[in-house]
Amino acid sequence: MSGAAACGAAVKADAYGIGARDTVMHLGNAGCRDFFVATWAEAEVLMPWLGDASISVLHGVADEDIAHAVPSKARPVLNSARQVARWREAAPGRACDVMIDTGMNRLGLSPAEACSGLLDGLEIDTLMSHLACADEDIDVNERQRQLFTQAAATLRARRLSLANSAGICLGPDYAFDLTRPGLAIYGGIPRAEAADHISPVVTVEAQVIQRRKIAALETVGYNRMFTAGRETELAILNVGYADGYLRSFSGTGRARIGDVFLPVVGRVSMDLTAIAVDDVEIAEGDWVELDYDLSAASAQSGLSQYELLTTLGSRHERIWS
Ligand SMILES: *Cc1c(COP(=O)(O)O)cnc(C)c1O
Repeated sequence: MSGAAACGAAVKADAYGIGARDTVMHLGNAGCRDFFVATWAEAEVLMPWLGDASISVLHGVADEDIAHAVPSKARPVLNSARQVARWREAAPGRACDVMIDTGMNRLGLSPAEACSGLLDGLEIDTLMSHLACADEDIDVNERQRQLFTQAAATLRARRLSLANSAGICLGPDYAFDLTRPGLAIYGGIPRAEAADHISPVVTVEAQVIQRRKIAALETVGYNRMFTAGRETELAILNVGYADGYLRSFSGTGRARIGDVFLPVVGRVSMDLTAIAVDDVEIAEGDWVELDYDLSAASAQSGLSQYELLTTLGSRHERIWS
């Protein structure tokens, strides 16, 4: 969907929880040559697996970063006049990226600042901006695109980049030279247009530690949030909010075995979650898949698809198949 533009990948936050090192290896094998992280520490960890691919640090360069940034092969994405001055002084002539803020009011130089001569002589690899509402159908997207195009016309950069996952869905006018999807690579659906192009890439499984039977009127878990209406069989799973299975799934989440859905009962604990398993053949030691369809789980839990991925904790073993 990025058309003629190169397709990079946001691998910040451990590739949205998927595991950045393995993600970089797999995407590198698939031809990805441009990666984006938030911090220098994230870039450093990935260096041995990048090959000849480039990596950009979205937070730019602070005083504390200079010692890591100057010897690094990563490029800073310069966001402010102070960052520009800092990079000029610490690494004269070295390539960088530049972020222009066209309406997000988060990071980046204003178009006026960027075009004031501040960037003259700087070796800009990728000039970028970021869309605030690409998942909505509002004219802000087109305004941001125009502001970006205008600023780019007066600046010299090797490449232009605007679109995140949702931005790619807005069409070829938004792709420029390089796109920067994150969510969509990891199975998230940023806009309806993408639904037919994206399959889930993450399934979450947990193991049954204990199976137990409770009598009618007994309760389950902290604060007795669930009361059994009749005799009920439970399986206790080794997953909880410390693993990213947050409390918003208490009483509403589900596990699944094939086509059978098994409801979460009671409150999700730090390391444990109870599901009702009446009449289902499932024993201690068995594994069950949690219902973690990102769109549905997002609607059901009130968490964004991004949060559902990035909160999956380090106790999950990441198994690639
Ligand atoms: C995180 C991020 C992206 C990727 O966004 P998705 O919505 O996950 O596709 C792209 N660009 C910037 C500047 C980002 O911070």
